Amino acid sequence: MRVAGVAAEARRLLVGPVSRMLYPDVCPACLARPGREELQWCPPCTDRLRVLPKTRCPGCGGAIDGVLAMCGECLSFGHRPWLEAVSVYAYGGYLRELVHRFKYRGATMLAPVFARRMATSWLDFGTDGGLQAITPVPLHSFKELQRGYNQAELLAEGVGRRLGLPVRRLLRRRGWSRQQAQLDLDQRRINVKGIFRVADPDAVEGLHVLLVDDVLTTGATLAAAADTLLAAKAASVRVLTLARG
Ligand SMILES: [Zn+2]
Ligand SMILES: [Zn+2]
Repeated sequence: MRVAGVAAEARRLLVGPVSRMLYPDVCPACLARPGREELQWCPPCTDRLRVLPKTRCPGCGGAIDGVLAMCGECLSFGHRPWLEAVSVYAYGGYLRELVHRFKYRGATMLAPVFARRMATSWLDFGTDGGLQAITPVPLHSFKELQRGYNQAELLAEGVGRRLGLPVRRLLRRRGWSRQQAQLDLDQRRINVKGIFRVADPDAVEGLHVLLVDDVLTTGATLAAAADTLLAAKAASVRVLTLARG
């Protein structure tokens, strides 16, 4: 029992390609049971994740909570700068735990399955719209250096491979913003205003872009990123996230 526990913990600590090389068939979420097939959660983990319902809010990709065509949060947010948003899971519970591991504990082995699910959801719910490039929401470079990777970029790369679209790092983060979690919607908008700039305006002009991030909570950060692309004359912006918070 104890040995099995230690082995499971050892597997848990192995991340990324190393883990996939040594345990190619394990479920990347629990690392204990075989995945259903390559790049899939095992059945118990699948049951623990809440996929969003088929009828979705076009503003944020989340569930619709009434008879209105948009969710209450989108109605109070006002205009979303993107044409449409698609998400895979409702944020919370087990998924929140997995995203936390993915973002803060180096569990990059989750990226391929996350990206696979995101690409599938895009094909199911998104429109093609002549998309030409995928771009991740950037982290501040110091944060990325500290973490060793940008989780949105790992997702974008996986989605790009599956949708056959190039990943272009069109955006840069200018400076620090406070953690969004403790702020209300208006404060969040002010907090993220102007935090992005485009890396090369010529590369953005006329481009149909799919903007990728891990979680859409209020959408304030994604709106700031989309506004920046549109100000640089992107032809259109669509949004794909793993979860709707
Ligand atoms: Zn599992
Ligand atoms: Zn909505």
